[in-house]
Amino acid sequence: MIKLYNTLTRNKEDFIPINEGKVKMYACGVTPYDEIHIGHARQAVVYDVIRSYFEYAGYEVSYVRNYTDVDDKIIDRANREGKKSTEVSGHFMKENSRDLDALKVHRASHEPTVTECMDDIIDFIQVLISKGFGYEVNGEVFFDIDKFSKYGCLSNRKRENLINSEESPNKKNNNDFVLWKPHKTGEPFWESPWSKGRPGWHIECSVMAKKYLGDSIDIHGGGLDLLFPHHENEIAQSEAYSGKQFSKYWVHNGLVMIDGTKMSKSLGNFLTVKDALKDYFPEEIRYTILTHQYSSAIDFSNQLFLNARKRLHYFYSTLLRMRDLIDGVEVDSETSKAPEYITGLEAKFVEFMNDNFNAPRVISELADVFKELNKILVSSKYSLEEKTGIFNIFFKTFNDISSVLRLFEEKPRDYISKLKDKILNEREVTVEYIENRLKDRQSAKITKNYEKADSIKNELMQKGISIQDTSGLVGWDIIF
Ligand SMILES: [Zn+2]
Repeated sequence: MIKLYNTLTRNKEDFIPINEGKVKMYACGVTPYDEIHIGHARQAVVYDVIRSYFEYAGYEVSYVRNYTDVDDKIIDRANREGKKSTEVSGHFMKENSRDLDALKVHRASHEPTVTECMDDIIDFIQVLISKGFGYEVNGEVFFDIDKFSKYGCLSNRKRENLINSEESPNKKNNNDFVLWKPHKTGEPFWESPWSKGRPGWHIECSVMAKKYLGDSIDIHGGGLDLLFPHHENEIAQSEAYSGKQFSKYWVHNGLVMIDGTKMSKSLGNFLTVKDALKDYFPEEIRYTILTHQYSSAIDFSNQLFLNARKRLHYFYSTLLRMRDLIDGVEVDSETSKAPEYITGLEAKFVEFMNDNFNAPRVISELADVFKELNKILVSSKYSLEEKTGIFNIFFKTFNDISSVLRLFEEKPRDYISKLKDKILNEREVTVEYIENRLKDRQSAKITKNYEKADSIKNELMQKGISIQDTSGLVGWDIIF
């Protein structure tokens, strides 16, 4: 049984879907007015893994992630750059998708935009007005929160703290929030029964969730920063509209910090996915995200990414040694046996993921198993056939885990060689230079000039290269 933490009840609960075997999931997407940052990447990776784990567990998942392609920030940028707002949003939607593809985030089942749902939004608002939950003043439409007695149920805030900050002289009550607003000069607008204008931000998510998933959904996700007012308002609109519960479970991912400070665009303290991808492999970013429980904060730093680099190198090197050892060895899979930490790995994976999608625990369990695999690799206790049998059993489960987390999926040899190239490049060292210095060292040794041999070794060490002399063979490796 999958258990997940439900923000609505502040409890970890059993996941019981509305329709057996199916999951209807919605997560708030981005406003495409700029490059996406690492916080957006985190959210996308988190729901991507939740979705793929549900699929692994046998559910059919319909997942909707929207694009807020009508927004002040888009309009401001378009005006600043002398473009149409659809040009700005169209450009960034493409760029944002490209960045998420690089991070191996699968596309959602539907990725609707506000502009393509405008008629649905207007219809939805009309229903809210006709049911008495919405009111119009001077072409502007608001949601009347006094009419919705559950208002505040998600954020658990006191009535006086439920302030929707948009200011308008047309509001009956400060806490009411906008559903439709008339356009100002220079802004794009749509015809509506109330004014030429555009929808408020909150209404679009209620409409898109309903359009693609129905009145009630299983899981609604988003960042913790969206809990109030955005998610609170989505509940008010959707439940006022349908009279049914909107989302059974509310899942919130934790916030993102950079070097110990809250990430903030206005303070300039943020990291775009594109910039992160200049310095790190996509998998290093994904690994960093998934080694943190989704609900906790992550404090991103170079050190954190470099740790991920080191760990991934360890995982891939082990995989390479295992693959190389068993390459071409035939064994009877019927009679193969493996230790309990390998035969029990799948059960542990399920246990940890069922416990509120605890991917960090899965990765730490894998690290423990890899430690044992390294012992097996060099152990004389097992024959080559026995080792092959063990590794084959391991790979069966490992491939499943890897395809849910979308980690460790590259060919180990390619990954390691790509990594070596990258690091040498960063350290401004070439393979040619290393090999020449190794030759110089050998000559020095032959002429018994040990002082010179040692100084070459130190010189390479200074550049982050270690020399390995094993049984007459001289190799080198990168020091992390
Ligand atoms: Zn939303």
